Amino acid sequence: MELSILLSQLPTVGPRTAKLLTKLGLNTVGELLFYYPFRYDDFSRISKINDLQVGTASTVKARVDLIKNRRSPRKRMVLTEAILSDDSGSIKAIWFRLPFLIKIIKPGDELFLSGRVEKELLNFQFVNPAYEKVKSIPLHTARLVPIYPTTARLTQKQIRYLVKLSQTALPKVGDWLPSPIILRQKLLDLKTALRQIHFPEKEPILQRARFRLKFDELFLIQLEALKIKEALKKEKAPLIGFKENDTKKFVASLPFQLTQAQRKAAWEILKDLEKTNPMNRLLEGDVGSGKTVAAAIAMFNTALNKFQSALMAPTEILAQQHFETLKKLFAKSKIRIGLLTSSAARLTGKKEIKKKELLEKNAEGKIDILIGTHALIQKNVRFKNLGLTIIDEQHRFGVEQRKKLKEMNLSSNDGRPHLLSMTATPIPRSLALTVYGDLDLSVLDEMPPGRKKVFTKIVPPEKRTKAYQFIRTEIEKGRQVFVICPLIEESDKLGVKAATTEYEKLNEEIFPDIKIGILHGRMPTKEKEQVMKGFLKKEYKILVSTAVVEVGVDVPNATIMMIEGSERFGLAQLHQFRGRVGRGEYQSYCLLFTENGGETVSQRLNALVKSHDGFALAEQDLKFRGPGEVYGSKQSGFFPNLRIARLTDYDLIKITRQEAGSLLKDDLELTKYPVLKDKVANFTEKIHLE
Ligand code: ADP
Ligand code: MG
Repeated sequence: MELSILLSQLPTVGPRTAKLLTKLGLNTVGELLFYYPFRYDDFSRISKINDLQVGTASTVKARVDLIKNRRSPRKRMVLTEAILSDDSGSIKAIWFRLPFLIKIIKPGDELFLSGRVEKELLNFQFVNPAYEKVKSIPLHTARLVPIYPTTARLTQKQIRYLVKLSQTALPKVGDWLPSPIILRQKLLDLKTALRQIHFPEKEPILQRARFRLKFDELFLIQLEALKIKEALKKEKAPLIGFKENDTKKFVASLPFQLTQAQRKAAWEILKDLEKTNPMNRLLEGDVGSGKTVAAAIAMFNTALNKFQSALMAPTEILAQQHFETLKKLFAKSKIRIGLLTSSAARLTGKKEIKKKELLEKNAEGKIDILIGTHALIQKNVRFKNLGLTIIDEQHRFGVEQRKKLKEMNLSSNDGRPHLLSMTATPIPRSLALTVYGDLDLSVLDEMPPGRKKVFTKIVPPEKRTKAYQFIRTEIEKGRQVFVICPLIEESDKLGVKAATTEYEKLNEEIFPDIKIGILHGRMPTKEKEQVMKGFLKKEYKILVSTAVVEVGVDVPNATIMMIEGSERFGLAQLHQFRGRVGRGEYQSYCLLFTENGGETVSQRLNALVKSHDGFALAEQDLKFRGPGEVYGSKQSGFFPNLRIARLTDYDLIKITRQEAGSLLKDDLELTKYPVLKDKVANFTEKIHLE
């Protein structure tokens, strides 16, 4: 069988099943081979019926004495009952809603039954056990049984059957790892690993299969990261000299003193700009840690060197806020700042400007800093000598958008601009290094002094009314309130239902006299911006929003962040929400509403009450949940989507980085390893580590 054979061509796969498989991203036999189980049920030990114990997962090998259907008296459901025996005794098995079983299983058949043994009155019985006729290599019983991630209506049995079938194509899988690495790391060969990961013979070889496949995944990431770094070393970028005197004057003119962390980050960035190959640096810092100023210092030096900067923000309001901020920061200098969004065009020193004129001026190099939304990466935007591009809240952009920005060329032959990405997602350094390999990282791990801590409180259900009263008094004082609601249903991906339900409750029952705005993922961007503007202008006192809509805007007048179902969110995410308040002069509050406050829930949420350090909270979160969950799936492409490895497999990451490094040192283009080269190219299309 070929790896490219479509699953829909396999026996038992009709259009309906094919569609379900596609939903899982599975179209070909080859793809299925690389679709790994996420756990295994250990049914490998075969017990005698007499030795069975209640509550334990067990397997027996027994003969069917009797099998028949009957209707359950109360629920009018079909039950299939069987009596089976081996040489030690006999036991009853019972299945619900599988009436066709009596056609498959006949008295006299020898079966494996795997499942949990339960006690009914005085007798033991199997309830809904997995069953399979006795054969030398069982798939569903009497072994380490693989359990796959699946979707409704596609059963484990179906998947196992198809995987087994697909394994006939295994001989066609070429091993892409260079053999010296396989030998050195004592890895299983790929075919064996792929056979064992699905249907392992024993635990030890399963471990080795897992190790091999994790190795592959992390090795590819490290290759990719190192290749980017090598490629960047070869590319040219303009040298942007450090204008020490002017920079010192600029820093002295700021209304505050830079934090130590800001100094260090700015220094690291300025050093990079002085190199003639492009910077690729990630600046991460908690909400409010002052990333903008660090970026401003870089843009300032870029302008003094007669190069242009582009600053891209995820929303129109955020772009506008940056425009206002930088206008103030650079008020005493001659730096010209432009703003370009889909609905606005502005230029410092000019009352009005048409978009066309702004674009012309920009192409002529008469604008030093152009700030904008996605509008910046449209084709009609040209720069004369772009020296620095900055992406704010970079995780909010898709892979394609980030790529476009990165590829914005200088029109001259100076190569490409330096790139600075900024994010408020608190990624612990260990994890960031994992993902970004050797890419450069600056961290603002210190808050500007004098920040008022946001008072954080867990609100149990019985205190809800009291909390609403408190919210009302804050609103009466003129303050505003954010309300975040969790997604209630899997199907409600855009949060329409979650937000609407909450909105209606507040609007009709709790605060009927107060003006409330709503934001959810189904609303067009324009409309969302409209609502945000309304909130900023205090037209709405309360803003209800889902977590899918990030409200990355400064609203100094908002003092309460109320979070519904807070136990459903990760700590890092809750911390991000909390960062939306406490930006003005007023004491601010974060109210964590819970639906079911068990001990572990309040323990976890208590970490938030006590700690105001986003990095520490993220670390803590990572211990409990995977990075995918901690940082959300929106960041796919930002965090590579791992199938088997974990971003916290730090040791293996170290090993793969070393191996990737020494391989590239000998053979950067991987000419000696065409299969691996192909694999990397394929992988590169899917993720972008920048
Ligand atoms: P973020 O890292 O979330 O982008 P900003 O750059 O928007 O944070 O900064 C948040 C606020 O902190 C701004 O109002 C900014 O003027 C202020 N700020 C930045 N650095 C300092 C500092 N060193 N001391 C005092 N305030 C600062
Ligand atoms: Mg910011």
